[in-house]
Amino acid sequence: MASFTLQGIPVSRGIAIGRAHLLRPAALDVQHYLVAQEQVEAEVGRLQQAIVQVHRELQMIWSDLPQDAPTELGAFLDVHALILSDPMISEAPLDIIRTRHYNAEWALVTQIDVLSAQFDEIEDDYLRERKADIQQVAERVLKVLTGSAHALPRAEGIDERSANMVVVARDISPADMMQFRDAAFNGFITDEGGQNSHTALVSRSLGIPAVVGTGNASRLIEQDDWLIVDSDAGVVIVAPSPLVLEQYRERQALLLKARKKLLKLKKTPAVTLDGVEITLLANIELPDHAMAAMEAGASGVGLFRSEFLFMGRTGHTHRLPTEEEQFIAYRNAVQAMKGRPVTIRTLDVGADKPLDTTEHNILNPALGLRAIRYCLAEPQIFMTQLRAMLRASAFGPVQILIPMMAHSFEIDQSLAMIEQAKSELAAENKKFDDNILVGAMIEVPAAALTVQLFVKKLDFLSVGTNDLIQYTLAIDRADHEVAHLYNDIHPAILQLLHMTVTAGEKAGIPVAICGGMAGDRRLTRLLIGMGFRELSMPAAQLPEIKQEILNTNLEALQPYIKKILRSYDPQVVQETLHFLGSVA
Ligand code: PEP
Ligand code: MG
Repeated sequence: MASFTLQGIPVSRGIAIGRAHLLRPAALDVQHYLVAQEQVEAEVGRLQQAIVQVHRELQMIWSDLPQDAPTELGAFLDVHALILSDPMISEAPLDIIRTRHYNAEWALVTQIDVLSAQFDEIEDDYLRERKADIQQVAERVLKVLTGSAHALPRAEGIDERSANMVVVARDISPADMMQFRDAAFNGFITDEGGQNSHTALVSRSLGIPAVVGTGNASRLIEQDDWLIVDSDAGVVIVAPSPLVLEQYRERQALLLKARKKLLKLKKTPAVTLDGVEITLLANIELPDHAMAAMEAGASGVGLFRSEFLFMGRTGHTHRLPTEEEQFIAYRNAVQAMKGRPVTIRTLDVGADKPLDTTEHNILNPALGLRAIRYCLAEPQIFMTQLRAMLRASAFGPVQILIPMMAHSFEIDQSLAMIEQAKSELAAENKKFDDNILVGAMIEVPAAALTVQLFVKKLDFLSVGTNDLIQYTLAIDRADHEVAHLYNDIHPAILQLLHMTVTAGEKAGIPVAICGGMAGDRRLTRLLIGMGFRELSMPAAQLPEIKQEILNTNLEALQPYIKKILRSYDPQVVQETLHFLGSVA
């Protein structure tokens, strides 16, 4: 097979080399042919066997579910088993083979088309959405029929081949990414997504090389193709020649060596050449990521994206994590960090992080009921979370961080809810830190423009550059078609960052950055030069950011920082930034 190259968006670091594992739906482009009369029963038997095998597969997945798997995963599997047993799937296609002599795949797809059309007529949103389940079940059967069924191997007992597996998909939801965390794959490629889509963020925090937004990788790459994922360049090389493969293996080995060397800096404080200390924190998505934060030498957790505890469950309130479940998760993170502060962000769902896939698909989710807007609209969910966070604060330093704030009343209502949670806990004799710090994310331009109000009402701020860029430049961070407009050094962004950090400095409250810019080595000098003293990033990026800080003389940067901030010309900004990298 001839080698070819795909260009996408780099979202992580490093190089992965391995064979393609396609998560492409097997659906609908199946072979169509008529079987001879004497073959009909054999064809019926082929479909029956495939259905039996899928039953077995579902059972195996059930028994292999990790202990900490959300209970809803089991429920989903039950639903799939029920659908598979329904005569609509298990019998109707057999009749189609017998009466119309269609081959098994064609018969199944024909029946699914009929069922899908019926589902489209259903008024009830929830039931209508079950169409996706039926299609998924059909896809499983089709995969068995066409011999392309592959389960994602788990980490234990992997063979050499699966350890070198690169997942290729149209898109992977952030919740699915979390489930892959202990599967044996070493890279991933998607058609969709942008540099800071949530799927990309998860890959970064897992430290796995990834290229997203390729447009059509999942259609061009075949199962088991050899792939090189160069996630620094955002390039995928399909079916590389032995020579290219060898070159990349060498580069990969060098990168690994360099990374190991950097880890020696673990205990070195991040201090500039002229003696300014920068606090480096880690972003985590689940409590057990705290281990990686400690290993990377983080001074604490600057952003715990708590919504990952909530995602992949159904939207019914009673199936969300309970106060006790959340308390245990937060406490585990706090204890793992051994006295270092843990900043837990309140639930940030909506936009490209839906609580579940049955949610209403409104036109513009990024501008919809997201994050704090959602929490204030669902005070019970919010109160449960606040109580759990407060209870965890009895076990070590916790800070509460509230996302997407834009309005003064949102700050007031959030603070009032926190006070109410405190008085409830006090009345129940439950322990918590009464002086817990409360901060806001600055990620809506309106917040940056009115930051004076924020510094008055809150204890700290943390800039979410991913959303700040999305909302300031009006580009969907998950849409690969506008990914080229995603520009973190757009003068508008730099002005908003500067306003925020200056206001914090004047008011004497800490201002961190926890968005993607904080983990980008090319921007470290710019950010600390502007005055940021706390950077929070995926643990895997922390050592190289530390190294950059250790080599920086802050004082010497100042004239160039001023030049960048005075300029509205992107070219001047770009060139000066480039120059900044070489200031000794
Ligand atoms: C951000 O917006 O920069 C941020 C840190 O939050 P998230 O990426 O989870 O939206
Ligand atoms: Mg955000």
